Amino acid sequence: MTAVRPRNHRPSRWYAALAACLLALAAHASDPAPAPQDDGPYVFDAGKQLDAVWICGGQVQRTSVARTATLPPRCGYPHAIDVPASLPPAVSKAAATPRIVAVSDIHGQYDLLLRLLRANKVIDADDNWALGRDQLVIAGDVFDRGAAVNETLWLLLRLQQQAQQAGGAVHFLLGNHETMALGGDLRYVNPKYLQSARLLKRSYPGLYARDTLLGQWLRTRPVLLQVGDTLFLHGGVSPAELELALHIEQTNAAYRASLGRSKAEVRADPAIAPLYDGKQSPIWYRGYFDGQLGPDEVRALTQRLGLARIVVGHTTMNHISSLHGGRVIAIDSGIKRGESGELLFIENETLSRGLLDGSRVPLREFPGAPPRED
Ligand code: ZN
Repeated sequence: MTAVRPRNHRPSRWYAALAACLLALAAHASDPAPAPQDDGPYVFDAGKQLDAVWICGGQVQRTSVARTATLPPRCGYPHAIDVPASLPPAVSKAAATPRIVAVSDIHGQYDLLLRLLRANKVIDADDNWALGRDQLVIAGDVFDRGAAVNETLWLLLRLQQQAQQAGGAVHFLLGNHETMALGGDLRYVNPKYLQSARLLKRSYPGLYARDTLLGQWLRTRPVLLQVGDTLFLHGGVSPAELELALHIEQTNAAYRASLGRSKAEVRADPAIAPLYDGKQSPIWYRGYFDGQLGPDEVRALTQRLGLARIVVGHTTMNHISSLHGGRVIAIDSGIKRGESGELLFIENETLSRGLLDGSRVPLREFPGAPPRED
């Protein structure tokens, strides 16, 4: 006997789908148009002068300025910018100071970063450097996802200049998203910046090309930094690529020389392919988190490198956390979600977390696999 299909089964699904489409269309029609955007400045090399370009309410505004000008606050970034006469050199190794602060994976969350830095007195209420002769490390991934990437970059450049004058330092290390932006990998770019590129008649990586101030600055930044007996980097040191961490200066120089190359160019060159490998390279590695390495392997790795600990971002945790007996400190605290975040403090071998309310709490050690998100 043949089963009888209810006659109204198919039509009712059709009507439901049609109704859903109409509702979606109606909802879309009532969406407000996106606000005309503010962005910039983008500062381009123009021979003897610089071309400073802002986007104000969706309109491009250009000004020609001297090479050592102070750019006034305008649409976009809210502070004046002192164009540096020369860019600070990349540092691969630095002596420890009584206080070292670290944060990573900001992903365009400028307002949240400001709140975090102010609450923990790394900057003052006017966003000026307040850490004196101490050091701040940004362990990569300022780019992508959020809509305030340029504000964050300009803030870090300002803090780097102010810290240098105060005898301290800001170290901005490149993560995989910086290399993706310079190499034209658009998968995570906030649409705002694609619109900026269209308005400026450039490609997206062209916004950070070698003829731009931010592009020149990014191309002088390191990937690995050793401060005292702590190594900072975005992803991690893989045992398979130990050599890259044994020769920090050479590795940083190799990154500098190869930034901006396309994926195809990187793959075709065996000399630089290990720098960008999606599994084992210093900017992508996740082996401390996914079970590839246990405490014994991590101990052997840090002993071989003569380190007390390795501080990494890239793999998102609920909180800044200690792993593998304190030899790995994970500092990507989920700032990318725009809701909360933490700073790592290293003060004379005492490690703690700086929270958004300015309070400080000890790090938790995860004996097994820590809770994390990708
Ligand atoms: Zn990353």
